[in-house]
Amino acid sequence: MSVQLLCTSRAFRKAALQLKNAKSYTTKVTPGQQLHGYRVQQVRSVPELELTAVALQHEATGAQHLHIDRDDVNNVFAVGFGTPVKDSTGVPHILEHTTLCGSQQYPVRDPFFKMLNRSLATFMNAFTAADYTIYPFATTNPVDYANLRSVYMDAVFHPRLEKLDFKQEGWRLEHEVPTDASTPIQFKGVVYNEMKGQTSDANYLYYSQAQQAMFPGTTYEHLSGGDPPAITNLSYEQLLEFHQSHYHPSNARFYTYGNFPLEDHLSAIGKELQNYAAVKPPHVNKIVQPWTGPRTVTGMCALDPLSPPDRQTKLSLSFLANDSNDVFENFSMKLLSYLLLDGHASPMYKALIDTNLGSEFSANTGYDNSTRSACLSIGLQGVKEDDVQLVQERIRSVLKQVKQEGFDAKRIEAAIHQMELGQKHKTADFGLTIMHGISSDWFNGVDPIDLLEINKNIDRLKHELSQGNFFESRIEKYLLNNPHTLTFIMRPDAQYSSNLVSEENARLAKKVSALTEADRKEILEKGKELLSNQDKTEDLSCLPTLHLEDISKTVKRTALDHTGLCNTPIQWRTTATNGITYFRAISTLPQLSDDLKLYLPLFCDALLSLGTKSQSMAEIDEEIRLYTGGLRASTTVSTNHSDIDHMEEGVALTGNCLDRNIDKMYDIFMKLVHDTNFDDVEKLKTLIVGNASGLVNSIADSGHVFARTYASSMLTPAMQNAEILSGMSQVAFMSQLAATEDLSNVVAKLKEISSLVLKQGSLRVAVTCGEDAISTNEKSLIKFISSLPEQGKASVSESKVFVPQFRKTFFPLPFSVNFSAKVLRGVPYTHPDGAKLQVLSSLMTTHYLHREIREKNGAYGGGARYAGLGGLFSFYSYRDPRTLETLDTYSSSVDWVQKRQFTDQEITEAKLSIFQSVDAPQNVSEEGMFQFVHGISDEMRQWRREELLQVTQKDIKEMAERYLVGSVSRNEYSTTILGEVTDKISAENGWDIKQWGSPSL
Ligand SMILES: [Zn+2]
Repeated sequence: MSVQLLCTSRAFRKAALQLKNAKSYTTKVTPGQQLHGYRVQQVRSVPELELTAVALQHEATGAQHLHIDRDDVNNVFAVGFGTPVKDSTGVPHILEHTTLCGSQQYPVRDPFFKMLNRSLATFMNAFTAADYTIYPFATTNPVDYANLRSVYMDAVFHPRLEKLDFKQEGWRLEHEVPTDASTPIQFKGVVYNEMKGQTSDANYLYYSQAQQAMFPGTTYEHLSGGDPPAITNLSYEQLLEFHQSHYHPSNARFYTYGNFPLEDHLSAIGKELQNYAAVKPPHVNKIVQPWTGPRTVTGMCALDPLSPPDRQTKLSLSFLANDSNDVFENFSMKLLSYLLLDGHASPMYKALIDTNLGSEFSANTGYDNSTRSACLSIGLQGVKEDDVQLVQERIRSVLKQVKQEGFDAKRIEAAIHQMELGQKHKTADFGLTIMHGISSDWFNGVDPIDLLEINKNIDRLKHELSQGNFFESRIEKYLLNNPHTLTFIMRPDAQYSSNLVSEENARLAKKVSALTEADRKEILEKGKELLSNQDKTEDLSCLPTLHLEDISKTVKRTALDHTGLCNTPIQWRTTATNGITYFRAISTLPQLSDDLKLYLPLFCDALLSLGTKSQSMAEIDEEIRLYTGGLRASTTVSTNHSDIDHMEEGVALTGNCLDRNIDKMYDIFMKLVHDTNFDDVEKLKTLIVGNASGLVNSIADSGHVFARTYASSMLTPAMQNAEILSGMSQVAFMSQLAATEDLSNVVAKLKEISSLVLKQGSLRVAVTCGEDAISTNEKSLIKFISSLPEQGKASVSESKVFVPQFRKTFFPLPFSVNFSAKVLRGVPYTHPDGAKLQVLSSLMTTHYLHREIREKNGAYGGGARYAGLGGLFSFYSYRDPRTLETLDTYSSSVDWVQKRQFTDQEITEAKLSIFQSVDAPQNVSEEGMFQFVHGISDEMRQWRREELLQVTQKDIKEMAERYLVGSVSRNEYSTTILGEVTDKISAENGWDIKQWGSPSL
């Protein structure tokens, strides 16, 4: 249900697909063969990914089908349609939402959300991208697969698309209180608010506006997700017409993946397609007319209160590149982009980031082939206005230099190593990774199987590289000598937010003044009708469902061995890993002051950013890429499984490598732990500015997490720490550091932390590897552990007693929609009430909060969530235009749940939705991590499982009474809102209003 924002600088790593253990392929079809109305077009085995790909076409309609036969239980289904647009009304996005509002065979409101509770799906979603819309799901259960496929197929081909659904999901005029004609008329609608939130995200705004400016005259000059001022131009009739013309088999692509038989897929889908004849899908131009000279376009965004006002300009150069139908050229350009931009050793990083010209690369930086004509962009954010010219000159001079000198052979070797390792790394969602990797090109006419044959591309690359002039010629053609070059500059404007409000008010006034008496009557009636519709109890028996028996009674156990090396506990997970070793270490912390703790995330990042006394970070980064799949240092906080007032905090080191590089991986870690040069203040400055910018940018997308973390921080010591390490406190702290000139104090703090953490006595290690790599790991581990200093003086901890506090806090931010959270204390993981609270939260979300917060209040999302490990019960809302009403909804949900009688089916559904995540397939690197990180054994998980399965109606009522009613009546909860200031939130009515830049934060 989200708009897909393709983040292209990461696309390269994603495109390096992964590999599973060697097994035989089962598909026995041959090209030309006819099956269930389909003709097999190609059958190709792709050994590097251990799969067989089968391309088919439905003969009567021309529908395309790609089946990936692979020995993987996590099967995927997806159906998608080409949906290029001619305007920014968001018609494909609103259609994506309304399609899921009920269909002929499943005539209930929102069968998609209802199925979330009747299934063990490991993934269910829908995406609107720039020129296509896709509906994927994944599950390991064959009955579930058939159920969901039926619901998805009926939804896309036979949706009801009722006018009220259009109004609810798209946009409508409605009284503030729908039943009260004396309250003002407003714009409402789920997509309308979703896109108001999305366009408040400065990174999204930058990415989409740059793309729009790059491709004038094509579908990409519009915003397929919808631009709020244009959304309110869309009519219901236009929505129906768009469905009619685009959601047709002739314009469809089907994707199936996994170990379920192809014949079953074809017979089920073929049955649906038999009533259609071929049509010609609508044509919208996707190919841009190349420019004769460069262009400059400027845009505006909101002024960010957390960053220095004079460093908020964003700019980039975008170069029109190849036709994305050319698979090898795509591959080459991705690699060129990686070599230019990725990591400390890349020339653009050195020239633009290391020099502190900007805080981070701009959101569009990288190679992007999500459009029919690809483009490569290089840019910066956090730039001083005076440096705009300089940044452009710097980019061009680096390009000239690289063209002349070429790339270091080692750097190219490192890139190829990353691809090799990426193919071997097993992930649990491989089928979805492939789908995301091919969708955009497939919809643009590329043969998707060509995209999977990575080794073919690598071989050709090696050959062409040996001929010379490979990257140089591309830099010349696309980046230096290209008239179709866009300079896109976005500047902050203090009036931006209020201008948006004025625009909306003016647009609203225009619409309202044009209303006739009859229109007004209809608005009131429709408002009432929508409300009563939303309140109607529905008969859901038409929907298929799994049952309690479909949930396995026993946990999937992970065999672990525990040994010791140098007095350090080691957890071994020996399994087939495709020749990769996965390493993780946790070093628990001594008692640190809160002041020092604020520096801990920076300390972790410094280990992988500053370099050592003898080597620059560029050199070390090159080694990391040449020998490992990436190294990481991070903070960890974990609530004790038997007491929520106790916790463990530490620093974690994680990494993986091919077994042939085990000793090199530990050597690099040793170097970083012992020799990091905290005195390099220039690099430190770069790191701080980049971190601050990244944190600030993440709020618009994850505001509900920040709100929840802040509210939770009042309630348990673990969350108090999480807030310091990753919450609003950390954002404010990092922003302040970014504005500090003299970093000598910071250097001192980092050195102090370095002297206190990562000691032998505080360490524990987990290794996942193949049998034959154990002894090499042991040898290297002994060297690594014994190199660490033994525990210094045992830190005498005057352990503070944690006292929960109950407060209402408001963080003012320039978002046109808000985020909120209300949190109360629950119980530890091993307490029998934990499972019951989890089921309670699911029931409240499904049967009350989703309807009230999303459907009625128009927020993009909202509900309740019980954190089993953290022991906290929280309410939250996401991109919420009516936050204060939502706070009332939180309260009224408690009254509601006391009165509501739940059926056995409803309780089963709540359990199914919980087991979806409990039983989701894991990456091999994650196996055994519950034990290692949280100390939770398979026995404890089995006990918890049984508790969950046994929860009854009576338990639910008791939980609501004991925890929700109890806490609320004693005012024992904390509330946090992030967003636009209103006069209803003030100190007088009990709100603590945070001021940016004040030391109290
Ligand atoms: Zn959406």
